[in-house]
Amino acid sequence: MAGARLAPMRVAVVSDVHSNLAALEAVLNDVDKVGVDEIWCLGDIVGYGPDPSACVDIIRHRCAISLAGNHDLGAIGSIPIDDFNPYAMAANIWTSSVLSETDKEWLGSLPTLKSVKSVTLAHGSPREPIWEYVISAPVALKNFDSFSTNWCLVGHSHIPLVIVEQERSVPPKTLPISPGPIDPQGRAIINPGSVGQPRDGDPRACYAILDLGRQTLAHRRVTYDIKSVQKRMLVASLPSYLIDRLERGC
Ligand code: ZN
Repeated sequence: MAGARLAPMRVAVVSDVHSNLAALEAVLNDVDKVGVDEIWCLGDIVGYGPDPSACVDIIRHRCAISLAGNHDLGAIGSIPIDDFNPYAMAANIWTSSVLSETDKEWLGSLPTLKSVKSVTLAHGSPREPIWEYVISAPVALKNFDSFSTNWCLVGHSHIPLVIVEQERSVPPKTLPISPGPIDPQGRAIINPGSVGQPRDGDPRACYAILDLGRQTLAHRRVTYDIKSVQKRMLVASLPSYLIDRLERGC
């Protein structure tokens, strides 16, 4: 049928870009090499890094779905910034001062939770989309009842993760992260990792490719010029703790 939109089969999932333009551009170059039908973003487009407006602009134009994260909502005044730690709060105040009204309006229009086809997307967790971190099997267990799709994609923790639901009496299983396609073989909570501020000890930008037809996924790591981002953060007088942690990846 001419003009009919086909369901996306291969999707790149990015999250926690955090105003890191160099990391985002490197990831999108990799995405373009791999070739996908759509790109989805799980939020925290801004906060921490030196290029919030440029990142908003790119995500807005390249992503078929975008969510808002706690940093996006803090920067537009939708949630109180006293809930952030001092470094995040300082970066948030600076971010808010440099975002345009158009940027803020668009960020304010984004949902924090969404379901499409066989997938639920949340920034934090399906149970508490803005603030909850899903980083362990016990927290994952409490969240499997909060979505009805096969997979739930979450960001927020900056830790790549795949946790698979088991039978009622058995705790969920955490799978090893793999650059090759893995089939979780069941309902799963999946974190693609962070583009702009990885925290799993690997400073390379991280994202995931989903194959919705085969029901497989793969995590990918991409190098980028960390030093250039650190220099721009220094110029913007962002906290040195945030500048240093980029090269440690934690
Ligand atoms: Zn984040």
